[in-house]
Amino acid sequence: MNYDYLIPFVRRWVAGKTLEEAINVAKNANSNGYFVVLNYLGEELTDPSEIKFTVFEYRRIMDRIIRDKINAAIALKPTQLGLCMGEEIYIENLAEIINYAKKRNIMVWIDMERSIYLDSTIRTYLDFLKEYRELGVAIQAYMRNAIELAKLVAEKDGFIRLVKGAYKESPEIVFTDKEEIRENYKKVMKYLFEKKVRLELATHDEKLVYEAIKLVLKTNHNIEFAFLRGIRNDLKRWLVKEGMRVVEYIPYGPSWKDYVYRRIREKRSNILLALTSVFTK
Ligand code: FAD
Repeated sequence: MNYDYLIPFVRRWVAGKTLEEAINVAKNANSNGYFVVLNYLGEELTDPSEIKFTVFEYRRIMDRIIRDKINAAIALKPTQLGLCMGEEIYIENLAEIINYAKKRNIMVWIDMERSIYLDSTIRTYLDFLKEYRELGVAIQAYMRNAIELAKLVAEKDGFIRLVKGAYKESPEIVFTDKEEIRENYKKVMKYLFEKKVRLELATHDEKLVYEAIKLVLKTNHNIEFAFLRGIRNDLKRWLVKEGMRVVEYIPYGPSWKDYVYRRIREKRSNILLALTSVFTK
């Protein structure tokens, strides 16, 4: 079923369907003082030709980053590079992207997906980190073992994007209570500050952002704050004004449904927001 008629409603979170649209949005974000992370939407792919096309698209993104001199990194999901079909396929595709990025000195972020992919995502991340240092991975604070995961990456001098976690998981492995998730986030964040790990805090939670600023002032450890496109623009602007490094995660592509669904699940009032955004351009 084609849902393209809904695109005007979701542009707030997704740059559009094409790379051209994403590049325009990225340029605009750069001009507002934000560093950018470009993501070609797609997940749980099992069609080999679609997976190959995804690799091709990431190379195209990197060509445009260089050509248009955009301050940007890329972010990808393991299952859009074939992890559902086996680790070897994923590794082969990831290697192609990382080699391309390495030659152009472009940072690559590996998003964290559902917990069934966690072990494989971390293991391959740590392997590739030996070859390329400009490589980061997301750690989800809702995981009960988030601190152990963070330690694994910290010990190898990795670059961590700390997020709360966006997927529906069993309470046996994740905290489900909002306050418990926030407490776990704080615990992991404090550890990462203490160890001066390369760190991107990716949360729109104002309380956590303020907590982090206290830690920046206390430890002098330089970190970056990351936000998803279309969320808490006020906070982003304020952080830039205060001299912080702010990153905007900009997704695009025809497969936007799952991503938008997660944003709406996080905040039900987004359904209303989506509707009003069409009329208040
Ligand atoms: P919340 O408690 O959800 O929200 C705090 C406040 O932020 C809310 O009260 C509201 O004011 C605002 N807010 C939050 N979400 C929305 C929204 N959708 N619309 C409007 N306002 C909102 N998750 C993963 O599982 N894996 C990843 O790899 C991953 N990468 C991410 C990369 C970036 C840069 C960011 C910012 C998030 C990423 N996430 C990822 C998503 C993350 O896990 C959370 O699901 C999402 O950020 C919402 O959690 P929060 O920390 O903002 O806190």
